[in-house]
Amino acid sequence: MERCSICQKEINRYVGATWLKLGKKDIKICHICNMNLGILQSANEAGTNPDPSVVEYFESIKNISLDPELSAYFRPYLDKEERERLAQEEAERKELEQKHKEAEANMICTTGFQVDGYRIRKYCGLVGGEAVLGTGFVSEFAASVSDTFGKRSGMFEEKMRMVKLEAQMEMRRQAAQTGANAIIGVSYQIATFAANMIGVSVNGTAVVIETLPEEVR
Ligand SMILES: [Zn+2]
Repeated sequence: MERCSICQKEINRYVGATWLKLGKKDIKICHICNMNLGILQSANEAGTNPDPSVVEYFESIKNISLDPELSAYFRPYLDKEERERLAQEEAERKELEQKHKEAEANMICTTGFQVDGYRIRKYCGLVGGEAVLGTGFVSEFAASVSDTFGKRSGMFEEKMRMVKLEAQMEMRRQAAQTGANAIIGVSYQIATFAANMIGVSVNGTAVVIETLPEEVR
């Protein structure tokens, strides 16, 4: 006789069963547990309190507190404090991510070592990004031999621009994570590899800059 791994009730053709991924293994659970678990999870995702009757349902199952893996699995859903702590953590993570995204977008990048009207308050270390132009580009150019040189070099320039941008995005992302708002001394290196690949790497120094006081500007 098969039993639900959560509530231990018999699984027969009237109850039905499904699989639940618990750590590295899959356990068989009944449809009632599965349905209630779904309610817990969607409340959790929405950041709302789950239906008390569903919480009660799982709290009444002794097996959950007895089985360490099951109790660990249910803790974020059933423990109110844990649930609030996780929701708080998630909100903080999202806020930080948003802050980093904004910092990335507003990051001042310059090849120089200072920014007009600002002074450097803090050095946050070296940052960099790499991107590789795929193997396809040479054959693409070869295929367009009948084109004018101008058109082909235009295609190449466009691709190089994209690759440089990609490398720069990575560098900006790194800088944002250090809390910097600018990157100074930005320089690009182009490297060619075998198999017709071109790599672009960009480096700079992440810094925190602040506007100069009016009187020294
Ligand atoms: Zn069950």
